[in-house]
Amino acid sequence: MLNLDYNELLERLYSKLPSKRAEAPIEIPPLETEVVGIHTKVKNFKLVCEIISRDPRLVLRYLLKSMGAKGSLDRDGNAVIHQNVSKASLNKLFEKFVELYVRCPTCHSYQTELKREGRIWILKCLACGAESTVRPAW
Ligand SMILES: [Zn+2]
Repeated sequence: MLNLDYNELLERLYSKLPSKRAEAPIEIPPLETEVVGIHTKVKNFKLVCEIISRDPRLVLRYLLKSMGAKGSLDRDGNAVIHQNVSKASLNKLFEKFVELYVRCPTCHSYQTELKREGRIWILKCLACGAESTVRPAW
């Protein structure tokens, strides 16, 4: 006869179930750009920011600062950069943002939130619970 009490049995049972944390990983689509005259429009900016749960204004500020460009959000919440920028180089910058301010350094989940406590910005992972301070570059 197995010498397990009820709690141990429960633990065994639950350890065999897939963790709720192991949800489908977030798919982050690349930013889609369209050059309009001397401007570059990011057509799926709002959607992508929603997927990564980041304030579009903050993401845009980071991108603009990295490029030394000016820009704004249009009525639909999509980004307009006042400069011609290739899709490849924009996505390179965006990937950097994701790496620094979205991806959990501990478990590499993208299910994180960025919060501000005074002057300190904290990346909090919703998957593993890790918290790390990040240095804002916007
Ligand atoms: Zn994590």
